[in-house]
Amino acid sequence: MSDELSVEEVQAEVEAWLDEHWDEGLSVGDWWDRLGPSGLAHPSLPTNAYGKGWGRAQAAAAMAIMADREVMGPPTGLGRMLAAPTIALHGSQEQIDEFLPPILDGTVGWCQLFSEPGAGSDLAGLSTKAEKDGDEWIITGQKVWTSGGQIADMGMLIARTDPEAPKHKGITYFAFDMNQPGVTVRPLVEMTGKALFNEVFIDEARVPDANIIGGLNQGWAVANSTLMFERASLGSAGKSPASAAGSGIRSVRSEPVTKFTNRTSGEGGVPPIGIGLWQYLVDTAEKAGKNTDPVLRQELIKLYSLIEVNRLSIQRAKDPNQRTGAEPNIGKLVMSELFRSFREVGSQVIGADAMLMGDSDSQTAGGVAEISMFSPGPSIYGGTDQIQRNIIGERVLGLPREPGPGKDTPFKDLPKN
Ligand SMILES: Cc1cc2nc3c(=O)[nH]c(=O)nc-3n(C[C@H](O)[C@H](O)[C@H](O)COP(=O)(O)OP(=O)(O)OC[C@H]3O[C@@H](n4cnc5c(N)ncnc54)[C@H](O)[C@@H]3O)c2cc1C
Repeated sequence: MSDELSVEEVQAEVEAWLDEHWDEGLSVGDWWDRLGPSGLAHPSLPTNAYGKGWGRAQAAAAMAIMADREVMGPPTGLGRMLAAPTIALHGSQEQIDEFLPPILDGTVGWCQLFSEPGAGSDLAGLSTKAEKDGDEWIITGQKVWTSGGQIADMGMLIARTDPEAPKHKGITYFAFDMNQPGVTVRPLVEMTGKALFNEVFIDEARVPDANIIGGLNQGWAVANSTLMFERASLGSAGKSPASAAGSGIRSVRSEPVTKFTNRTSGEGGVPPIGIGLWQYLVDTAEKAGKNTDPVLRQELIKLYSLIEVNRLSIQRAKDPNQRTGAEPNIGKLVMSELFRSFREVGSQVIGADAMLMGDSDSQTAGGVAEISMFSPGPSIYGGTDQIQRNIIGERVLGLPREPGPGKDTPFKDLPKN
């Protein structure tokens, strides 16, 4: 099995493929048309799902090579991060063949239609309903905090298909077409000044039976896979190649790849959190003559240690003898802490410049201001810090569950807020 390839073998394979296919004269679209079908756009997907079937270490090594060679990475966004692995795990081969190739070549973007005004942490309490009409379902309800909803073509939608069943058992997961009558997307502006997320109003929109992922009323298990992929990837902080993050993926296909491979921190939104950004802060401190300040040195090394400890903890997840099951949750908690630490340490390094947004205003690191404004987000999205701790307590440590109505209470009989 290719899962058993050594990291060195993976490196040789990726290097050889890049030698033959990478060309910095290409447009993003032409590059993704080569990368998408190669298996390297998402190497940890199984081979029947347009991946390589590689484990985490091998997939991370492939991305690190692209980063080191300053090659543009695959399309980013929730399609590749969440929809692709979820459909690969729970979808039929027909669904894999229909939905994955356009994700991996960046022609179709996805959003995650999970949270609702009355269902965030208590996601299984969602009330968007799906009612059967022939071989279609009619969807009515409201979603909120939908990242990228304004540019997405498809949505991972969870909706209630059986209100008589207990709340976790009457939910179905759909691949939902965003471009249809009855779907209204309203952007919500955050304190970064950008509108990352949206409200989505759904009024009798339609989805075919064939777009149910993982079976009728089985949506809670499928949604949990999506959330698991979300936590694992939000907490990973691996080395990543240049990306078009922050842009609508389809809209960048006509751009030259060099627009993204030559990008400096801060121009395209929040820079990737990791060792590269840490090194950038160290270099900036050196240029500003602050690298001899003992307090700042101590803060920088604390930040370095947190990044390293997180990296090693993620390595542990690969070894079944060391795995606790809490690694995705711990990784996500650490990511919240990393954002806060980068905000604090970054501001100490660049001083008053931290008030200026973007590289055009700031003389030093405009990305620090982007991180500062964005830093409350990671402790909320993908399940709040408190929810991660609840999961670790209840599912990993076996502590008593929170008091509440019995698990078998039908959804329609639960108190609503
Ligand atoms: C930047 C960003 C992007 C997002 N993108 C998406 C997206 O694309 N798609 C999507 O579906 N959602 C998205 N979300 C929504 C996110 O998943 C929810 O905000 C999150 O799950 C929390 O739900 P809530 O906002 O309803 O808060 P609530 O659930 O109302 O929580 C409020 C507070 O109460 C605490 N709390 C709640 N229940 C418990 C409990 N049982 N024990 C202890 N404390 C508790 C929470 O920790 C929190 O501090 C995004 C959020 C952000 C900030």
